[in-house]
Amino acid sequence: MLSYQQARETVISQTKSHGNSRQTFSVPIHDALGHILAEEIRTDREYPPFDRSTRDGYAVHSAEAQPNSTLRCAGEIKAGDTVHAPLASGTCVQIMTGAALPPGADAVVMIEFTGREGDRISFHRPTESGQNFVPRGSEARARDVALSPGLRLGYAELAVAAQVGHAALQCYKKPRVAILSTGDEVVPITETPSPFHIRNSNSVSLAAQVQLAGGTPVPLGNALDRVDDLSAKIEQGLREEILVLSGGVSMGKYDLVESVLKGMGADFYFDAVAIRPGKPAVFGRCGNTLIFGLPGNPVSTMVTFQLFVIPAIDILSGTWPRSLPILEAALAEAIKEKSGLTHFLPARLTWKDSYPQVRVLRWQGSGDIAALTQANCFAIVPADHPDIPVGNRVSVLPRADVL
Ligand code: AMP
Ligand code: MG
Repeated sequence: MLSYQQARETVISQTKSHGNSRQTFSVPIHDALGHILAEEIRTDREYPPFDRSTRDGYAVHSAEAQPNSTLRCAGEIKAGDTVHAPLASGTCVQIMTGAALPPGADAVVMIEFTGREGDRISFHRPTESGQNFVPRGSEARARDVALSPGLRLGYAELAVAAQVGHAALQCYKKPRVAILSTGDEVVPITETPSPFHIRNSNSVSLAAQVQLAGGTPVPLGNALDRVDDLSAKIEQGLREEILVLSGGVSMGKYDLVESVLKGMGADFYFDAVAIRPGKPAVFGRCGNTLIFGLPGNPVSTMVTFQLFVIPAIDILSGTWPRSLPILEAALAEAIKEKSGLTHFLPARLTWKDSYPQVRVLRWQGSGDIAALTQANCFAIVPADHPDIPVGNRVSVLPRADVL
């Protein structure tokens, strides 16, 4: 059985070899958060475009602005002012943060280190050439590459695009991810379940996870545990780039997902992973569609999605697969699990005196979604070290949406 790391590697290599020629479209910058950039964006001019003061103070010739000397203040420059006149010898100008230094000035002295009597400015400290301003062109030259294709557009990337004058950005179309839950016991959330039915929460959590991961969810509802219904709905799912199923992949008599898919010509790259929850997770391909069969217990579905589906969405989105953002934290209470499987236990990460500390929450197993609402992460208990004493370091996988 594959470890979760090996299973992820399998997803990554199979998805890469899947081939991907994504269409692009123009996205207004205010809608572009989370999209993957498809074009190269270059600077339109030098940055900063002028020698930019980083302090409120006086622009000076550094050699003249030394302790025991005074200079005449010849005026002021504020942010946005047009500046042409060179700084005359024996003078300084008052300057504000963000304003352009006058030609010839080679330093800014912070106002805190000066004295003023009338228009005479004295200096308390030695002044060094180059201090307190950012020279023109030092952040970027004109026509430098500012953003490259494949970047995920976060707020910093959007700010750079805005800075260089792009109000719309060419982005890759998001991969469409079909979502199909399975199970005779599953009813739509708009229906009142009988005492022996459950509402379809997996389709909702999966759609949210797809969206967070950068895909477009395509909800297909629920298939009964019957070959005809499963085949018909899987057929619909095979029109999309990725099909994620929940349920029907365990060893039960009515767990038919794998056999139905096989009958439809699917190949499988793994059909079990050494983790709990999530052991029966299945990954394969049918025609041009990547298929994930995730176990139906809601927490299993969520964990296996985060581990295995996100890297496939990343690659099909036109970017690199994200690493798992694993942190280390001190264990607040000892853990004792069975060996042989890597456990992902709902847990709460906090910072105590700025050191991360993690406490595993009480839960009733992988059906207990309510426990997850208290969890902001999963504590990872390695298969070969199932007993971890209090205070020891453990790996922690943050929940993708809350940490
Ligand atoms: P399965 O993996 O099909 O054996 O399903 C395991 C358990 O997960 C079921 O007994 C249900 O309690 C639960 N489950 C399956 N599908 C869903 C769903 N769509 N929404 C919520 N819970 C589900
Ligand atoms: Mg089932």
